[in-house]
Amino acid sequence: MLGNALDLLNAGLDAVQARLAWVATDTVNWKFYLQVCSWSVCLFESYLLLRQFPLYSKTEPPPVLAEHFKPDTFVKSQAYGKDKAKFSLVSGLYKQVVDSAFLQYGLMAWSWKIGGSITALLGYGPEYEILQSIAFAFTLFFVSSLPSLPLSYYQTFVLEEKHGFNKSTRSLFVTDLIKSWAIGLAIGAPFLAGFLSVFKWAGNRFVPWLMAFLLIFQLSMVVLYPTVIQPLFNKLSPLPAGELRSRIEELAVKLKFPLKHLYEIDGSKRSSHSNAYFFGLPGNKHIVIFDTLIKQSKPEEVEAVLAHELGHWYYMHPSQLLLLSQIHIFTILALFPAFLRAPPLLRAFDFPASVAVKPPTIVAFLLYQMLLTPLEAVVGILMNAVSRKFEYQADRFACELQTQLKDEKMADMGDRLARALVTLHVENLSTVWVDWLYSAYHHSHPTLTERLRALESSKGSVVAAKDAAEKKEL
Ligand SMILES: [Zn+2]
Repeated sequence: MLGNALDLLNAGLDAVQARLAWVATDTVNWKFYLQVCSWSVCLFESYLLLRQFPLYSKTEPPPVLAEHFKPDTFVKSQAYGKDKAKFSLVSGLYKQVVDSAFLQYGLMAWSWKIGGSITALLGYGPEYEILQSIAFAFTLFFVSSLPSLPLSYYQTFVLEEKHGFNKSTRSLFVTDLIKSWAIGLAIGAPFLAGFLSVFKWAGNRFVPWLMAFLLIFQLSMVVLYPTVIQPLFNKLSPLPAGELRSRIEELAVKLKFPLKHLYEIDGSKRSSHSNAYFFGLPGNKHIVIFDTLIKQSKPEEVEAVLAHELGHWYYMHPSQLLLLSQIHIFTILALFPAFLRAPPLLRAFDFPASVAVKPPTIVAFLLYQMLLTPLEAVVGILMNAVSRKFEYQADRFACELQTQLKDEKMADMGDRLARALVTLHVENLSTVWVDWLYSAYHHSHPTLTERLRALESSKGSVVAAKDAAEKKEL
């Protein structure tokens, strides 16, 4: 049964590959194509920012938000938005110029050479492809991330500082950077070695095996990230007993949410932006709440935020997103074999003929990924649309808890959630006026105005349903 399915899959993949056979033989000016594509994406993003920019000059909040925003808070939020937009415009163009120069002058081919020198220094020859691939990947990553360091320094210590959000220090900034590079190496090296070994072992039939490998990796990160990685940066402590804790535990019991641990995280160490989330494998879930959220909102409002989060769990949104990402990965891998052994592709990106004749897997894969950038932008828009639908659904879930759990205490859940969202928005000085196209491209969440409007209407429908039920009882 499984054997038949695999045969069918492989026959389909072979057919795709036959259609793309020209990639391995034809000389195409891939570099030019990629320059055009990446500049198009960059200019489109700049255009979106220019559409959004005039909205920061509006002097009044949207009517639905008027009562929640004090005039001076609104002025602050507009100023913050304007500064962020300017920063995005300048940094986006700067990064594009740097990336474009790297592309033009063959950074990848250079990194492969350096990777080879590093492996040779360690006493291994070019036949150790996996070792050279790891050295190559880190050289490439390191060199290409250097130019954006000043940007992230500016963002933290000038932009966020100016608007009162930055809580990080220079030494924290540097240790964070070193830690994240060390973790990248500690996780990235074995990951890459595993990834390339699967290719080597499975040959042309790598698609199902590589998908299984990536899925196992994703699932182990779900376990490793919060237990091993996040504690290196933040302190997670059990949420102290009290009103908030009992409210959340009670809610979890009522919804049969398998809550294992309830944490408070010291997000305020770096920034005063706030949040809450849950994670974990089925049957073993953890909830994390930012100390900033606890400080800014009342316990009953934080409970409403958690009700929204549990809505994501109830409707299995994380699993659905995982499924979508599997489909996405499958599509990418299915088209990849055509690019795997394509000397003209490597030649187009300045690799010497000696390397191009037998393309290293990692190089072929990264080049192929780069060629997909414009398609990935479209995928991003679609994923945002899905994610926004999920947000509305989770909001409605919180609103309807009263009916679902037959608990009168939850009658005002919609109002509490609305208050919490408004507080989050006000405290984070989030943008209130949003251009629709900008939002479709960049936002995974509906705007505050959209969410409040939807909450208002689902509150209406909950009341109508309740009235109808009462009438029936009469
Ligand atoms: Zn959500």
